[in-house]
Order: sequence, then C-alpha cells, then structure tokens
Amino acid sequence: MIVVMPTLTRAEAVARAATVDVREYDVDLDLTAEGDTFRSRTVVRFAATPGASTFLEFEPVEVESMTLNGADVPPDAVAEGRVTLTGLAAENEFVASATMRYSNTGEGLHRYVDPADERVYLYQHMFINNAGRVLPSFDQPDLKASFRVSVTAPDGWLVATNAEVVTSGDGRWEFGRTKPISTYLATLIAGPYHVRTDEHDGIPLALYCRAALAEHLDAEADELFTVTRQCLDRYHEMFDIRYPFGHYQQAFAPEFNFGAMEYPGLVVFRDEFIYRSAVTESERENRANVIAHEMAHMWFGDLVTMAWWDDLWLNESFAEYLGTRVTAEATRFPDTWTTFAMQRKAWGLRADQHPSTHPVAPAEVADTDQALLNFDGISYAKGAAVLRQLVAWVGDEAFRSGLNEHFAAHAYGNATLADLLGALSKAGGRDLSGWADLWLRRAQVNTLRAEVTRAGATYAEVAVVQTAPERYPTLRPHRIGIGLFDRTADGSVVRRATVHAELDPERDGGRTVIAGLAGEPVADLLLVNDGDLTYGKIRLDEASAAAVPAVLPLLTDSLARAVLWAATLDAVVDGESPVAELVTLVLAALPVETEVVIVEDVLRATRGLVDRYAAPETRPAALELVAQAADRLLAASEPGGSRQLAAARGLIGATVETARLRGWLAGEGVPAELTVDADLRWLIVYRLAVLGAVGREEIDAEFERDRSATGEQWAARCRAARPDADAKAAAWAAIIGDASLSNRLTEVTAAGFWQPEQLGLLAPYVPRYFAEMPQMMRVRSGMSAERTAALAYPDVVVAPETRRLAAELLARDDLDPILRRVVQDADDDLGRALAARF
Ligand SMILES: [Zn+2]
Repeated sequence: MIVVMPTLTRAEAVARAATVDVREYDVDLDLTAEGDTFRSRTVVRFAATPGASTFLEFEPVEVESMTLNGADVPPDAVAEGRVTLTGLAAENEFVASATMRYSNTGEGLHRYVDPADERVYLYQHMFINNAGRVLPSFDQPDLKASFRVSVTAPDGWLVATNAEVVTSGDGRWEFGRTKPISTYLATLIAGPYHVRTDEHDGIPLALYCRAALAEHLDAEADELFTVTRQCLDRYHEMFDIRYPFGHYQQAFAPEFNFGAMEYPGLVVFRDEFIYRSAVTESERENRANVIAHEMAHMWFGDLVTMAWWDDLWLNESFAEYLGTRVTAEATRFPDTWTTFAMQRKAWGLRADQHPSTHPVAPAEVADTDQALLNFDGISYAKGAAVLRQLVAWVGDEAFRSGLNEHFAAHAYGNATLADLLGALSKAGGRDLSGWADLWLRRAQVNTLRAEVTRAGATYAEVAVVQTAPERYPTLRPHRIGIGLFDRTADGSVVRRATVHAELDPERDGGRTVIAGLAGEPVADLLLVNDGDLTYGKIRLDEASAAAVPAVLPLLTDSLARAVLWAATLDAVVDGESPVAELVTLVLAALPVETEVVIVEDVLRATRGLVDRYAAPETRPAALELVAQAADRLLAASEPGGSRQLAAARGLIGATVETARLRGWLAGEGVPAELTVDADLRWLIVYRLAVLGAVGREEIDAEFERDRSATGEQWAARCRAARPDADAKAAAWAAIIGDASLSNRLTEVTAAGFWQPEQLGLLAPYVPRYFAEMPQMMRVRSGMSAERTAALAYPDVVVAPETRRLAAELLARDDLDPILRRVVQDADDDLGRALAARF
C-alpha cells in the first residue's frame, strides 16, 4: 500500500478558519467487520460564509453516500485525502457513510492482534493530521468542536472515549457529548480491554490494558492511582480552574507511537508502562512523570490549545516543565530535576546543535510535516529548561498567576505565544518581550565557561564567559548559580556555598565577573550552573576540570553530580575530551554512584560514545572497561535493588563473556536476589545474538517460552541482530518494504540491525541505506517513517564514505522532508564522531 498523506499548510488552515465555524460531530463507527476495514457514518454541523467552498480531511476506502444539506455530493468530490464542498449555506450539515481502513502505523484507528491470545485491540490516534483516516473532519487545532460518538463493537469488547458512556448493551455503545476540543484530541479505545476503576475528589478514575496484561495492571494499579490522585491534587492547588473534562481515564495501548497522549478524559499510554518484569526506580519515576505530564496538558493543550502548530512548544514545554515539577513536589519521586539535568537536557542540547535546529517558538511553521518534525528535544526539553529559567526570572508567584489568567481568558479556545507573554508580563510587572525574543525566538545554545584567576589560596577573580556559535551569535541573559565545593575531613565533597548571579550581556558583554567571590578560598570544584537553573553548555575552569576524576565520586549532591556528568559527556561529544578519559572516569566513579538514573544514563551514553567515538581497534578494550565498571557496581549493589538491576543490564550490554551470560540463563552464577525474569532473559539473548552465540532456533525457543507482545518484539530484534548474512537480508527487506509489519515491529527490527561488532558483514548496507530509504518513505508515513529512518541509519559506520553517501542523498531535490531532516542530523552526529577520532 502506498501512503498518500496530504499535508495541511498554515495558509490553508488560516483561510479555512476564516470560512467555517465547526459546531459538532456525530460519529457512528461499526467495528464488527472482519479484516482490515471498519465503517464510519459521520454528521458534521458547521457554520460557513454563505456561497463559499471548503474541504474536510477524508481518506475513505469506499464511500457509500455523502450529502450536504440533504443534496448528494458526487463521489469525485473526494480526492487526495480531502472532500471538497461547494455552495455552502450559513448553517450546514454534511453526512458521510464510508468504509475506512485500520492502520498498523499508530495513525488513525490502529488495529493490533495480541500474539499471546489472538485478541484484537484498537486505539484511535488522529494527531497530527490523521483524523481523515477515521472520519471526515476539519482537522486543524483551532477548529474546536464537540464530539458525540456511538460504536457497534463485537461481543465481549469494551469501548471508551473522551466522554462518559451513556448507554451500552448488546455490543452497542453510546457516549455523551464532549466539551469543545480540537480534532487531534478525539480518541477511543476498543477491544477486550481489562479495566480497574476508582474515584478521587469527585472524579471517576479508570485504568485499561490488554487482557494479557491484566494481572500486571492489577499489581500496578495502586501505584498508578496513587500518583494520579497526588498529581490531581497538586494541579488543583496550582490552578484556579478544576480539572475540566469529567472522568480521568488512563488506557495502556499496544504499539503506541508516543510515550503517551493527552486526550481529554482518556489519556493513552504505550503499554510498555505496565511492567511484567522487574524495573528500576528511575523507570517508575519516569512513568509517574509521564502521568503528570499528560495531566498538565488537560489545562495546557486541551483546555487552552495552540492556534496553529507554531506554538506546539506551548503544549510540550509546559507539560514537560509542569510534569517534572509536579512529580517532584507531589509524588514519592522528589529527584526528577536530577533526571531532567542528566537525561532530558542532553536530548534538548543535541537537537539544538543539529543543522535542523529551530527556535523553541518558531515564528511560522509552514505545514503539518514541519510541525511533526518539531516534535523533538527542543520543543520538549529545551522549552522546559527555558521555562525553568523564566520562573527564576519572574518568580514563581507571578508565573502561576499569569498562567491562571491565561487559562481563564482562553478556556475551551485557542491562544498564541503573544497571549501567554501578555498574561505573564502583566502578572510579573516586567515586560517579557525582550526576554522571549532572545530565548524563544532564536535557535541554538550558549556555552558558559568559568574563568578563574588566583591569588595564592584565594580567588582573585571568577568570571563566567558566555559564547555563541558563529551562525547563531545571540548571547542571552542567564540567572545562574555558581557552586563552591570542598573536600571534607571524612573524604566527601560538599557544597560550601552557592552564589547567584545574573549574566547580562547588555551590561557585561560576554564576560561577567561574579561579585563576592574575589578573596574566597579556592574550592576543589567550582561548578557553573549549580542547581541547574539555566540552559546551556557548561564548561569548568581548568583546575576544576582537572579535579573531576577525584571529586566526582565523592560529591554528595546528586543534582551537582548530574550537572557535572552532563558537562563531561557533552565535552566528549564535542571532541574536546577523548572517550578513553571518559571510560577511565566511569570506571572510577560509577561503582560508587548511588543515583540510579545517573547509573543508567552514564552507562547508556558511554556505551553509545564508545561505539561511535572509539576507533575499531581500541573499541573492544574500551568496552571491556565499561563492562568492568558495571561489574564492580553490580558487586557493590544491594541485592534485589534498582542499582543492581541497572548494573546487571549495563554488564549484559557490554560484556563478551558468553559463558557467563549463558550461565545466567540457566540460573548459574546469578548475583543474589537478581531475578532473571522474562525481560532480563531477552536482554541476555539479545546480547548473545549480537555476539553470534545464539542461532535462530534458540531465539524461536525463547519466543515459545514468552509468547507475548513483548516477546514478539524482542524476537524480531534478536533475529535482526545476528551476524548472519541471511538474517540481515531478511531484516533489511522487512525494514525497507514490508508494509504488513507494524510500526513497533519495524522499529525493533531496525534497532537490532546495526551492530559495531559486525562492520564487515554490514558494509554493503551502508550504500543500500542511502539508495533504498526514499522507497521506505513511500511505504510508511509520519512518525513511524521518521523513527524507522533514524533507527536504520548506519551510525556505527563512522567513515568518510558514509558522509559522502549522505551528502549525495541530501543533494537530491526530490527528497522527502522527513528523510532529509533525519539524514542531515544523523550525518552531523557522525561528522562529530569522525572528527573526534582523528
Ligand atoms: Zn506532551
């Protein structure tokens, strides 16, 4: 099947909003047919400029009938994903009955068959421009309307939507009307879903998952409901408007493209969040953070929605900021800002330094394709970091009252950046337009570097020098902390003081002398951005940098360690510091690291840097040191704890001791209280597959043992990872051209394909990537296509030839914009790795 996805341009959206005013949709779906289609009957009521024409997004397989105000609409009015309507009246009713197709890419109405029991599950995801795959609709965020949904479903199914159920019986489900919402926020789930219910503060709560996960959801329900209640309470304290969408349901759906999506009244999560094997506390923290993030959207995104995708950041930056903050303030996970400093900001910094970088708030996003591509580390993590800086700038009270004013003014409507800045400026009594121009309207990142001169054992001067990349010469105001850390008698390193300072480029140019530090005794570590209040690349003064290997393992403050690790890893990415030094530091500091998220992230990031930054002849030795670091941490960890699990996973991923791994599978030599459960077994089998130590039969046997959705995904990944010519050929054919393969199975196959251990075998696939990926882009669409193109990139083949082939592809003028952006950015990363090697 060739996918034709019409994009909607900003200009078209503006013109359409000037022509029509949408009132409501009545949607009736029949999900009882076998096979890959369903039926949809939709009534759309809307006002219009009399005599004008307009269009709705609509992608039927076959149209049975269409009428506008009672008169037939000819079938040829449907073309290229749209239906055109002419001769509009002041008030209009468009009715369409059609056969529609299910998807397997997570867009439209996604259909999934569970390998565990062959049961069928559906979820509806219309973001960003997929509403036409389910119903004819005016699919743009500022044409809000009320939805009333009815569904005919097979026996034994459960159906849930944004709105509450009014009647159900004999497979017929009728739901109430929603408040006015954007089309991309309309959802439903259908299938033999398992359900748990509860209630809090007058709000009905529900959790849903596949039947195969029922016992695991039951085991997790307590924690999920507890976090939900805590977050609801906190948002009710912060905001004047109560949760506005009736019930609060949370569904866990298979093969969901995002972590989760903020549909009002029915949040949908990927069902990997229902744990069936042991997980670490940081994974639980992440899940709590996602719950809080989606809940923030109920106000920011759902109640008040961006007018067009230019202000996507209004949704995501706020949800990321508020989610991280509310998780820290209201749940049992107080250290989310450490995770943010370590993990999320690195994601933002990478995206911000790519050729495709864009401002947090772009002045104009031309169409829905561009909007989808902006769903990146800039819109989420950088935006949230900038908001954190904004709160440091205007003060929390002003920030909160500005938000409340914004919600009150635009409830159930749409708003822009200008509206929000107006509310915040008014509340804070400080005009934010200059600040916003520098931080939100301009791309890229500043480097903040400490410069120190001494007078004996005291500082003569401490300055922070701010620089910007040549192509993006903007310097910004930063409010930051400078931390002084000393070694104590008991051998730990603790904070003596934090000095706060404003870097004001208008006043100081790029160099700000920090008042109050002259004459202070020299510290063992001087940490720029202590407390992680600003967004920037952090570089230490020379003496502090030299002290890192000695200081880092002894530093008691976890947020300070996260800031220091992040700066250290970033310097390796930039080629300023060799990967060999990083590996030595990891070996010294990791075995004593107590913060699980730091353990996990340092192991993951170091592993990635070793694979790409170490030359092939030095890589095995570097990887061996990473394995040793994980092994020492494993020995030092409390049995049965999160650190032990994180260390075990790190060791499995880096070791080449296949006999030891096989022993763990057989229950021999397993560290005390480490459970080798289904997912840890798969991690071991995967590593053995990469090393060529298991064959196809053993992978099949493991899948027989774990015939679950997750088992199916692991098996696909393991098969793609084997160093075997036939296995690689089969995996590649699946990635490039098998449209029957779902989004998730395609992704895991691509994720298993490239292995730095198999460069010889994989060499022919480097030119094939650049020759064949345009063809993949015609088979898959949207986010699934983007993910596949990124995961299948030959990023471990760090060679000039890879770059030459990328340049050749980028020179083509017929390249799909999504593929162009993926290749541009991946090539930039590869260029850095290549430069660092020589
Ligand atoms: Zn979000």
